[in-house]
Amino acid sequence: MSDPSTLRHFIDGEPSEPAAGEYFTSTNPATGEELYRAARGDAADIDRAMTAAHRAFEDPHWRNLSQTRRGRLLRRLGDLIAENAEELARAETLDNGKLLREMRGQLATLPEYYHYYAGLADKIHGDVVPTSDRRVLNYTTREPLGVVGAITPWNSPLTLTAGKLAPALCAGNTVVLKPSEYTSASVLKLAGLALEAGFPPGVVNVVTGFGTEAGQALVDHPLLAKISFTGSTATGSRIASATAGRFIGSTLELGGKSPNIVFDDADIPNAAMGVVAGIFAAAGQTCIAGSRVFAHRSVYDELLDRVCERAKSIRIGDPLDDATELGPLAFTAQRDKVAGYVDLGRSEGARVLTGGNATDAGLGGCFYEPTVLVDVDNSMRVVREEIFGPVVAIMPFDTEDEVVHLANDTDYGLAAGVWTQNLSRAHRVAARLDAGTVWVNTYRAMSPMSPRQGFKSSGTGVEHGTEAVKEYTRLKSVWINTSEEPVADPFVMRS
Ligand code: NAD
Repeated sequence: MSDPSTLRHFIDGEPSEPAAGEYFTSTNPATGEELYRAARGDAADIDRAMTAAHRAFEDPHWRNLSQTRRGRLLRRLGDLIAENAEELARAETLDNGKLLREMRGQLATLPEYYHYYAGLADKIHGDVVPTSDRRVLNYTTREPLGVVGAITPWNSPLTLTAGKLAPALCAGNTVVLKPSEYTSASVLKLAGLALEAGFPPGVVNVVTGFGTEAGQALVDHPLLAKISFTGSTATGSRIASATAGRFIGSTLELGGKSPNIVFDDADIPNAAMGVVAGIFAAAGQTCIAGSRVFAHRSVYDELLDRVCERAKSIRIGDPLDDATELGPLAFTAQRDKVAGYVDLGRSEGARVLTGGNATDAGLGGCFYEPTVLVDVDNSMRVVREEIFGPVVAIMPFDTEDEVVHLANDTDYGLAAGVWTQNLSRAHRVAARLDAGTVWVNTYRAMSPMSPRQGFKSSGTGVEHGTEAVKEYTRLKSVWINTSEEPVADPFVMRS
């Protein structure tokens, strides 16, 4: 019998001991209690996983599987996720402290990612190209790349994994997953479900461990055909440098500092809720957090009052409790980072209207109060840098041109919100914002069907939708001479 509190890698279809025999501890951030020990992966573990994935990629059982059957496996995996949703949701909440209610919501839609790409699997094909020479048949094919490495953060482990795993498998690749060291459990469980769904051993592998050890070894491995990464801009930049010289494709989904703009013609109660949802849902630990709010000067006070009133009443507590509205930060260092930024804001001249304190919520965990900063501007670090916590900076503006300029004056370009009842303004401003996703009169909407891309320092490459599958294929152009005429001597000029 295996010890349930010890998690091993998942390589070639089975749990696998770490080569060096080392483990690390995962802690519940709501209580500070130890949850389990997970294998501390190193280069030797990554090598075993990559070798297994490469062998599986070459194996006719996977390589020659019809695209329709590939789709069927993805559909089955989606169904198994639905059957195991409660267990997976709990595993995520215990690991990262996000509300169980929220993780249940994510798990309810997670099968849709696999079902969507199940439907797409037998619609991947090339084209016949009508070149100028009718005697030549030119066609294209879309081939899988090989072994894809997928590295993910802790904030929504299974949803972010789905955005990589589903299209990669849909296109016929094999995958080595390296989840965040803070959230190993749910992704390991997922790999077991992939085997149960019928994916051959070695098609889906998981190596747990730290970024600078397992993550770095994955990025550096010679069998890697593509890296798909979600995480901070700093790590994404390191990965881009490490892979650039080897001409390996990469999809990088990175950080954000998204503007949420409230015009004077907006429905202010709705906009205030949109601001609250944009920054305090998931305790602000989302890449798309609307952490910079710009409110037209004529509605600024009303918006502030509404946001602060709701922020003060947010119930902080146990994320397993259905009544809780704000759980802990995912780990102590993250809580300290958030607290450090608020202190920095104070020293830069910002005023804390509400919140501004760490708390253990009487549970021994690492929580931080919903916090509203005012008297801030675009020159301050709290407005320029990603905090990744429940901290919002709210600033007034006077004109549309001014707010577009302020919103775009950032290194990031992940998402933006616009609150207005003026249809022309909605389209006009959406077109002018430098962000890969723009929401109008809503915030945080997402679907596996809708492609998304970060602009500027928020990343490169597309996730979700039909576009994402292309990122996991390579395009081949085949030219066939159908004529029986002799091949012309290239040095004899035709008259
Ligand atoms: P992180 O960059 O610290 O870690 C992300 C992953 O990379 C982890 O699995 C980590 O172990 C690994 N890693 C770290 N160093 C590595 C290295 N040198 N080589 C290879 N792998 C390495 O990010 P995080 O703190 O886990 O996550 C929060 C960040 O993720 C935020 O910046 C957030 O905005 C971003 N994020 C982006 C999106 C998006 O879709 N754009 C979604 C969610 C989170």
